[in-house]
Amino acid sequence: MGESAKQVGVLGLGRMGAALAGALLGAGHDVVVWNRSPVKAGPLLDRGARLAATPAEAASADVVLSCLSTYDTQRPVLEAAALAGRTLVNLTSGTPEQARDVAKWASSQGINYVDGVIMAVPQGIGTPSARILYGGSETTFAAQRDVLEVLGEPVFLGADAGLAALYDLALLGIMWSTMGGFLHALALVGTEGVTPEKFTPMALSWLSAVGGFLPGIGTQVASGAYETDVSALDINAAGLGLLVETSRAQGIGTTVPAALQELFDRAVAAGHGAHAIASVIEEIR
Ligand code: NAP
Repeated sequence: MGESAKQVGVLGLGRMGAALAGALLGAGHDVVVWNRSPVKAGPLLDRGARLAATPAEAASADVVLSCLSTYDTQRPVLEAAALAGRTLVNLTSGTPEQARDVAKWASSQGINYVDGVIMAVPQGIGTPSARILYGGSETTFAAQRDVLEVLGEPVFLGADAGLAALYDLALLGIMWSTMGGFLHALALVGTEGVTPEKFTPMALSWLSAVGGFLPGIGTQVASGAYETDVSALDINAAGLGLLVETSRAQGIGTTVPAALQELFDRAVAAGHGAHAIASVIEEIR
């Protein structure tokens, strides 16, 4: 164990928890792990981790990371861990409300608490592609930064422990919408025999062009000024109508574009037809 190495407890050795523990071992930290099914600790023990028989045993470390499937499964484990006076970094995904609830509980127990969400897959942990967002106690975050940096780029968002979960869901929403749009596109071009292999490169370059629109949309949303001389909402709403009509004619489902069509049509009906697409946010809010 090097001079700057810490004792780190890891509660939960699912796909993600095992990746976190593995990265910490790779960085030379002294890692003590606990999992409901101890058998999953095997490969980590081979690499030098120690197995805790109970959550409380893993919680005697300098810092404890928790990564279980849900907040509901996590709560009894945290309660059993006897963390009073210790530092907990919660990396289980959930809602902002769930994160704030645990933060409140942690404060009542005298636990130093930071809530984090992992914007990466287990294979990315410990590589530059991983980013982990944090909210909660900035002092605790700063004190554990050396450990957190091992897992992925740490980004501190603010004192509200619910912020990381809020960002997580907002960012995942972008991912799911994009994937939904892409799958619809593959189904549509597939009706004429166009393969994913042929279509995907065009979708990729189109997506990077679409990404270029985001800063402008953000500026319009921030100012509430939706004037445009580029592309008005009514033209886009009409385009969505064409997509729904064509999808139906080609014999595929319309759920993905129909949801957006309904939203855009409502914004047009509310008087935003000549405005930019950014004005649709008025119907979402
Ligand atoms: P996973 O592979 O399904 O592992 C779930 C973990 O929770 C295991 O350690 C499991 O223990 C434990 N668990 C489940 N129910 C339990 C209970 N009742 N009591 C005690 N332990 C229980 O899930 P994962 O992929 O590691 O995900 C863990 C967290 O990371 C989730 O909140 C997930 O949203 C988040 N996350 C995952 C990814 C990803 O790509 N995997 C990405 C970002 C964030 P057993 O081994 O005993 O079943």
